[in-house]
Amino acid sequence: MIEYDSKDSIASSDFYAVVNTEECTGCETCLERCHFDALTMKNDVCQVDISHCYGCGLCITECPTEALSLVQKSEEELTAPPLDDIEWRERRIKARMN
Ligand code: SF4
Ligand code: SF4
Repeated sequence: MIEYDSKDSIASSDFYAVVNTEECTGCETCLERCHFDALTMKNDVCQVDISHCYGCGLCITECPTEALSLVQKSEEELTAPPLDDIEWRERRIKARMN
């Protein structure tokens, strides 16, 4: 998905990471954990690019100060699970065409 800039073409998440900037010590551990290039540093504080975050939670488990957490998207942004395999495939096709 990252290689072809095709977000949500296989799966999507209803969550994304947020940073408590008061708790972030700038250790950059989370940058190594994120496989989606969603994290950067600005003025020694971690920042999340929500458009690249898949809500996997990998960054959160290693943050030494518990500055990271997952929050659920708003009601309007939530994605209902596909009804069956056919709908899942149709969604993948649409996502790849975007
Ligand atoms: S792992 Fe936690 S403390 Fe370290 S840079 Fe990331 S958010 Fe900040
Ligand atoms: S939740 Fe996953 S995708 Fe989002 S910033 Fe953390 S490691 Fe990256």
